Amino acid sequence: MLLQLKDVFLNDGSKLELDYSLPLGDVDINGDYPFKSPVSVAVQAVNRAGLVELRLNTVFDYTTRCDRCFDEITKHMELSFTHGLAVSLVDEENDDYIETPDYTLELDEVITSDILLNLPSKFLCREDCRGLCPDCGANLNRESCGCAKNAVDSRLEILKQLID
Ligand SMILES: [Zn+2]
Ligand SMILES: [Zn+2]
Repeated sequence: MLLQLKDVFLNDGSKLELDYSLPLGDVDINGDYPFKSPVSVAVQAVNRAGLVELRLNTVFDYTTRCDRCFDEITKHMELSFTHGLAVSLVDEENDDYIETPDYTLELDEVITSDILLNLPSKFLCREDCRGLCPDCGANLNRESCGCAKNAVDSRLEILKQLID
């Protein structure tokens, strides 16, 4: 969506608000398409004493795999972002500001990169996920496979032999 910001830029104290949904179903993260439903975005552009600030509040479901047990999980996420807007940038290196030539801003790109840069690098199905057994691959959240117990038993066995 192309945001028209001329009125906001030219009128101190003015504000533009809108809600829209951004489909990110095509976004491919390591072969997965985690955005099964569109991202809901609340957009606010505010002119405060001549400085225009863009506030984005995004709400979405993110489908991925647990980093430990590899079960598919869907996490409800809410991420907020704030950017300063400037019609032309004095300092190109300053990442705090986004340039908006002709008072327009291509919102989809801004929101997509904000979300992708701020996703956690790991997701767990739950904080205390027990993961998979390194020996037999059993999902330890659902079953106890006995491998760890057997390992302890054989160590005890060796101890016994030592004592004898
Ligand atoms: Zn898990
Ligand atoms: Zn096992």
